Amino acid sequence: MTENLTGAGFGRLEFRDPERIAALRKKISQLCRNVKKPISIMHVCGSHEQSIARFGLRSLLPPELNVIMGPGCPVCITDVPEVDEAIAIARQGAIVATFGDMFRVPGSCFSLEQVKAQGADVRVVYSPSEALKLALESKGEVVFFASGFETTAVATAAVVLANPPANFSVLSAHKYIPPVMEIVAEMPGTRVEGFLAAGHAATITGWGVFERFVSRHKIPVVTGGFEPLDVLAALAALVELVVAGEAAVENAYPRCCTKEGNLAAQKLLWEVFESEGGMWRGIAHVPNGNLRLRSRYRSFDSRQRFDLTPDLCQEDSLQPLTLECICGNIMAGIQSPKDCRLFGMECTPQSPVGACMVSAEGTCKIWHEYGGHLIIAE
Ligand code: SF4
Repeated sequence: MTENLTGAGFGRLEFRDPERIAALRKKISQLCRNVKKPISIMHVCGSHEQSIARFGLRSLLPPELNVIMGPGCPVCITDVPEVDEAIAIARQGAIVATFGDMFRVPGSCFSLEQVKAQGADVRVVYSPSEALKLALESKGEVVFFASGFETTAVATAAVVLANPPANFSVLSAHKYIPPVMEIVAEMPGTRVEGFLAAGHAATITGWGVFERFVSRHKIPVVTGGFEPLDVLAALAALVELVVAGEAAVENAYPRCCTKEGNLAAQKLLWEVFESEGGMWRGIAHVPNGNLRLRSRYRSFDSRQRFDLTPDLCQEDSLQPLTLECICGNIMAGIQSPKDCRLFGMECTPQSPVGACMVSAEGTCKIWHEYGGHLIIAE
C-alpha cells in the first residue's frame, strides 16, 4: 500500500501533490480512528522536523497521532567536552575548520565563535574537502572539527583516504544513529511505539541495519524521505504497523534506499572509523554511538596530536542561563521547545542559549523559524 502512495501505482511521483497528500491524510486518520490511546512515533532526524514544521504537517495529523522529536540533530548532540577539545586546539594556534552550525554551539565556557573573537583562527567550511584545501594551502596545522551522522562521516572518511598532507587532522565528533534508538527504546517509561528513520542515513547503511533493533525491541521502523509526501507516506506505513501490532522494518524511501545500502560508502566509512561508546549531549552515554578514527589513521587523528586539556572556566565566562536549557529532554522526546521558559525570549537564533537553537536541524531553531505545535505524548 505504501508503495502505491509513494509512486508505483500513480506514475511519476510528485512529492507535494495535494491529492496524494489528502489520500495519505485520510488513510492515517482512518487507521487512528479506533485506537484506544494516542500513538507516539519518534523521528530521529532534524531534516524530518524541518519538513514537518515547514510544511505544517502536524496540522494534518489526527489528535490520536503524536509525532515527537528525537536526537536527530548532530550538532545538538555534540557533547560539551567535544566542543571544548576543538577550543583547546584552536587556542594552541591551529586553524580549526568546522561547519557553520558548529560555530556557535556552546562548550563549557565558550563557543568557537567566541574564541575566534578572542583571536583564534576558526574557519567555517562547507565540506571536509574544503578543510583539506585549507591544509594544502597552509603551512600550519589545520584541524577539521567533524560533526554529523554516518551520512556526513563518509565524506570525512573519503578525505582521510585521499592522502592528505601531514598538517591535516580530524577531530571527530561524528555520531552513529542506530545505537541511540536502542537507548530511547530502553528509556524507562518510553512511549515510543514506532521510529521514523532518516532516509538519507539509511541510504548509506541500508534499511536492513534496523532489523536487529526491531527483533530485539519489537518496535517497528519505517525509513522515510523529506518531501511532504515522503513523510506522510512513511507515517502512514508506520501507523499501519503499530495498529496491526506488527514489529517490522519497512522502506518508504525506495527511490534512494535499499536493504543493503551504499556498499561503497559503507566500505569507506568502516575503513576509517570505528564505533565506540560516548556521551551525546543531553541524552546519555550511547554505546557504539561515537565514530572515531581507527588506530591505523592515528596520524590524522587530532586527539593524538594535540593537548586536549580544556581551559578552566573563568567565573565571568560561565553562562547561568544554560542551566535552564532543556535541550536534552527535547531530544529525548519528553518535552517540547515551548516547555522552555527561555524559548523566543532569552534564547533566539540571534542569541542562542542551547545547541538546539543554533543548528538548522535543532528543534528549537526550527520551531522558532516555522512555529510549532505542542504535541507531546500523554
Ligand atoms: Fe535550550 Fe534555548 Fe531550546 Fe530552551 S529554547 S531548550 S534554552 S535551546
